[in-house]
Amino acid sequence: MRSISIFGATGSIGESTFDLIRRAGGADAFRTVALTGGRNVARLAEMARELRAEIAVCADETCLPALRDALQGTGIETAAGAGAIAEAADRPADWVMSAIVGAAGLVPGMAALRHGGLLALANKESLVTAGPLLMQTAAAHGATILPVDSEHSAIFQGLVGEDIATVERIILTASGGALRDWPLDSLARATVAEALAHPNWAMGQRITIDSASMFNKALEVIETREFFGIDPDKIEVIIHPESLIHSMVGFHDGAIMAHMGAPDMRHSIGYALNWPERHPLPVARLDLAQIATLSFRAPDMARYPALRLCREVMRIRGLAGSAFNAAKEIALDHFLDNRLGFMDMAAVVEDTLTQLMAETRLQMDVITLDDILQADHLARVRATESARRRSAA
Ligand code: NAD
Ligand code: MG
Repeated sequence: MRSISIFGATGSIGESTFDLIRRAGGADAFRTVALTGGRNVARLAEMARELRAEIAVCADETCLPALRDALQGTGIETAAGAGAIAEAADRPADWVMSAIVGAAGLVPGMAALRHGGLLALANKESLVTAGPLLMQTAAAHGATILPVDSEHSAIFQGLVGEDIATVERIILTASGGALRDWPLDSLARATVAEALAHPNWAMGQRITIDSASMFNKALEVIETREFFGIDPDKIEVIIHPESLIHSMVGFHDGAIMAHMGAPDMRHSIGYALNWPERHPLPVARLDLAQIATLSFRAPDMARYPALRLCREVMRIRGLAGSAFNAAKEIALDHFLDNRLGFMDMAAVVEDTLTQLMAETRLQMDVITLDDILQADHLARVRATESARRRSAA
């Protein structure tokens, strides 16, 4: 029986993963090792019972008593905290879903890779903060990383049987998020609720705001660079409001392979779950005559400073990805708390990168996990200072 673990089981990707596992037979077809969540212990316990997990772990330590209560008498182990999540990732499983949001996903993902096996990677922050280290760890332990981000799954599928040396360009599609049709001068006043009204995809709160600011696409450009080893100059971003083409690979003979489907993350989660096979998936089928038209437009760089900043991050490399992601997480926290304007998020990230470039060495060839976590920490401190200055101004 195939063994699985889901990190971030109670989130948007986690729920979609759970749905596919359940449809594929649930506890009768899979041996579930670990399920983890944040604070939603009721849901975590329900999932753990249904899949008869070995261990359920919540990130928030204050929730442990409630988790214990909910699983009493089931024989399912319980634990809490970041350390316990990392320990749960140290329990071997054949297939591991990495779907924690943010830099918190890095350590468990690294731990899982050390056991070989398959890591379905939704947590793009791992590749942004620690791309080379993650890829080296996978190679050293014979592990395979399967991208779950829809764009990267699309590219991965477009590359099956192809020689990467023949790739001329990667075209990442972006919906443009909730504010794509707003006049530029009104963006600074956008509220959390407005930025959360995503036109196509139902996702976690944080990635939905990142879609509106294009920080999500900026992370994905870096993710593309790190995962596929593609030269940054070959990576393009295009706004495709319908979100039906999930990304494209252009080859040196001029051919472009596009991956299409309904905007449903179960496409790419299911592909990673069944890889290298394709199994039927419960996703809507496209009626192309009904859709009739697909549209594209170039992103306006004045609206999306994140797309410029990610180029700088790829130029510096080293610890810049870690600093960039951490600063973005802090800026997003402040925006979600109504302490920072929508356009100020990019300003905070830019302040942080500029400051860290001046006070520390971001450009390093050999990087350890410790270096990355330290850069993450320092960037959070500097970004918090910048956000406070900007919100006081
Ligand atoms: P989400 O917020 O819905 O869920 C995140 C999960 O992580 C939850 O289980 C939450 O409890 C847990 N979590 C949050 N903070 C944690 C912490 N500090 N430590 C441990 N666990 C924590 O997020 P999501 O939308 O499912 O996204 C998960 C990841 O997948 C992100 O990296 C995101 O960028 C990526 N992703 C999501 C989508 C999507 O459609 N939702 C698409 C592509 C990529
Ligand atoms: Mg994506």
